[in-house]
Amino acid sequence: MAEHGSVFNAMLQEFEGAANILNLDKGLWKMLTHPKRQIIVSCPVQMDNGEIEVFTGYRVQYNVTLGPAKGGIRYHPGVTLDEVTALAAWMTWKCAVAQLPFGGGKGGVICDPTKMSRRELEALTRRYTAEIIDAIGPDKDVPAPDVNTNEQVMAWFSDTYSMHVGHTSTSVVTGKPIEMGGSLGRREATGRGVMIVARESAQHLGFSLKGATVAVQGFGNVGGIAASLLAEQGAIIVGVTDWKGGVHNPKGLDTKALLAHVAQHKTVAGFTGGDALDPDALFGLPVDILIPAALENQITEANAGQIKARLVVEGANGPTTPAANRLLHERGVFVVPDILANGGGVTVSYFEWVQDRHGYFWTEREVNERLEAKIVQAFDVVLQTARRYKVDMRTAAYIVAINRVATVTKMRGMYA
Ligand code: GLU
Repeated sequence: MAEHGSVFNAMLQEFEGAANILNLDKGLWKMLTHPKRQIIVSCPVQMDNGEIEVFTGYRVQYNVTLGPAKGGIRYHPGVTLDEVTALAAWMTWKCAVAQLPFGGGKGGVICDPTKMSRRELEALTRRYTAEIIDAIGPDKDVPAPDVNTNEQVMAWFSDTYSMHVGHTSTSVVTGKPIEMGGSLGRREATGRGVMIVARESAQHLGFSLKGATVAVQGFGNVGGIAASLLAEQGAIIVGVTDWKGGVHNPKGLDTKALLAHVAQHKTVAGFTGGDALDPDALFGLPVDILIPAALENQITEANAGQIKARLVVEGANGPTTPAANRLLHERGVFVVPDILANGGGVTVSYFEWVQDRHGYFWTEREVNERLEAKIVQAFDVVLQTARRYKVDMRTAAYIVAINRVATVTKMRGMYA
């Protein structure tokens, strides 16, 4: 977030490491480090008390070389243009690593959804959609859920777009309710991808998920599902924190009961199946696997030294600062970067878009099998690249992504 400095600069530093190794052409370097389009809109909304509030929204289409821009919409008080631009860039690299025919985009609205009614959220969503309507569409830019947005928000988004174009468009947005063209398995996809990547990494490092201990920061759609699926594989979830508090149980938390608690109380705090845990103590827990699944800039130079885990799987986007990443690498911690680790969500978004365009829907098993195949393949390619160039997994993932986008940029040539 903004108080920790520019998130876009962090993205640039990560990019630079890989671009230097690739000896990337200077012109391509410039093209790949500039957002294609940044849209800023003001969204007036009549609030329940009768007053009009104006919310600032952004949609950034970072790069559309490989296909339509793809990426979520975030509702959060800390949203900035800098952050949305970095997130849109990360979507570009994420889609390229997963070999999806998409570019990268991201949207954000500065608001606090925890303080808004359902009617206010609907009005904001519809107005934001209307304000960016010319820039979006199944072949242009396809939004999806992100922090504090969900299937209902996507339903409003899709309906507003459909009313504007005069026909029902399902493929304009992914992460929709199943009944209106959503894909089975989409809601769980990011967490499932995190679990698959953790399993592949553990295997590479010579240990099994069975009996491995895990700490998770954030227990929303990513952290909550990843923890449950890891527990299903026999891992022991010993610590979980969120914005309000944390819980700790060295014998393992009951993830099903914890999910039920969160559904009711909107936080893990107060869960009786463990002891209260200070969120600042999470990273220092003696665990095998750490999963940051909240926001950016969580693992910093200041706290990276506390981390005892040998494996970090980034469920969140940008949770590790570049300086912290270097410290972890020096200490031999195996960090699976966001653009590989949380690619499961956008991969099933791609499957949803394909199903919508065909008007033919797959079984959950088909979705999960295809997700598994894509993630394992992406993981293998990045691992091979890391070995070949003798670099960490983040640099390797960037090398793969930059290579793919740069190759097509060169093939397509310069327009005018
Ligand atoms: N918001 C998710 C992400 O950061 C998913 C984006 C999508 O499905 O388009 O990857």
